[in-house]
Amino acid sequence: MPDQHPMMPFEQARERLLAALKPLGKHQTVNLTEACAKTLATDLRAPVSLPPAANSAMDGFALATDSSVGAPADSRFKLRGEALAGQPWQGKLAPGEAIRIMTGAVVPAGANTVVMQENTHLDQDLLTLTHDCPPANNIRPTGDDIQAGETVFKAGRRLQVADLALLGALGFSEVPVIRSLRVALLATGDELRSAGETLQPGDIYESNRLAVSLLVRHEPIELTDLGIVRDDPDSLRRVMQSAMTHHDVVVSTGGVSVGAADYTRDILQELGDIDFWKVAMKPGKPVAFGRLGGGWFFGLPGNPVSALVTAHQLLIPALQSLAGQSVHPPLTLTAEAAEAFRKKPGRLDFQRAWLLQQQDSSGRWVHHVRPAPGQGSHMLWSLSQANAYCVLPAEAGDVAPGDPVTVVPFDGALRV
Ligand code: AMP
Ligand code: MG
Repeated sequence: MPDQHPMMPFEQARERLLAALKPLGKHQTVNLTEACAKTLATDLRAPVSLPPAANSAMDGFALATDSSVGAPADSRFKLRGEALAGQPWQGKLAPGEAIRIMTGAVVPAGANTVVMQENTHLDQDLLTLTHDCPPANNIRPTGDDIQAGETVFKAGRRLQVADLALLGALGFSEVPVIRSLRVALLATGDELRSAGETLQPGDIYESNRLAVSLLVRHEPIELTDLGIVRDDPDSLRRVMQSAMTHHDVVVSTGGVSVGAADYTRDILQELGDIDFWKVAMKPGKPVAFGRLGGGWFFGLPGNPVSALVTAHQLLIPALQSLAGQSVHPPLTLTAEAAEAFRKKPGRLDFQRAWLLQQQDSSGRWVHHVRPAPGQGSHMLWSLSQANAYCVLPAEAGDVAPGDPVTVVPFDGALRV
């Protein structure tokens, strides 16, 4: 029997997800080392300025000179002392005086410019400039990065590496974040075996739990692996019932389609409330989303490439939204198709592709993209050869060589 149920356009599915998934709002305090990718729970103000004191950007000499013109070549200064990072020179320079200063050392009172060592000549305690030195040279003023009291980050920010470096530099050791989401992951399928088991005819090794858990490991979640569940409604119901009581999100793979052994949707209908289960995307048409108890449910497709692409395109934004983070569409670029892309109108297509940058005959840099070796939703090898999605609009047909296409590059962790 043909499957008549309409598909939801991809953009609509994504918008519905993001609109439905409001942050849980529970806070916890974590060390900076644990805070990467988590959501900041409150605004943070700088307790100190950065830098806390004016300091030198160079190894050289701090000069007390005319602050409006600096010091011309051949001018001379009397050397009074030395300042190192962490060991300030305590005195005050009078005009015509200098100290030796190292990078990061505090610029002493009276000094108004720093000349780099290479532009000087030192004879005992007499310093002569070999080049002009402009005023306020090589000085990092107090607070030129951040002023004490300024808001550094607002609540809702996804904390990234540079953010945590900055918070570390401001003297924070911990931060308030939104509590990690509790996510359960299971795979469904009678044919699925674990590594080490002997394959009987019809069996395959299960790989979706590994793939999805690796893909989401940079999200603010605590993942519980619920293993493989057989294609049997009672087993599936039991596992889902238990999962929904302990988790904010339950993610399964497989069994969302319309096959004879596809029970995921039925059980979800019974225990929860389906929002959508067919999305006009390729790969990954059967992807279910809905309420499950007090939490949420994601039924990803069983095909390994579909599971990864739907997790990438829908599950990750959903987790980020539920974690209180604003979700932005990925940066895209326009590339020239280096070969034809085959495409039937109907679904938004995330073709796995290889993007490269080349110089054309006039020396201009252009992006070229070609399809990865196979576009089957079971073809993991082909996905592993790709470094980008070539995103072809739902209504588009075949792409001819030379046509412009939209590309989303990703790295080896499938991160865009
Ligand atoms: P399903 O969505 O359950 O109809 O599965 C679609 C295809 O994906 C079938 O060929 C399954 O054998 C395969 N498949 C389902 N789950 C997994 C899994 N966890 N790991 C690898 N392949 C799977
Ligand atoms: Mg199945």
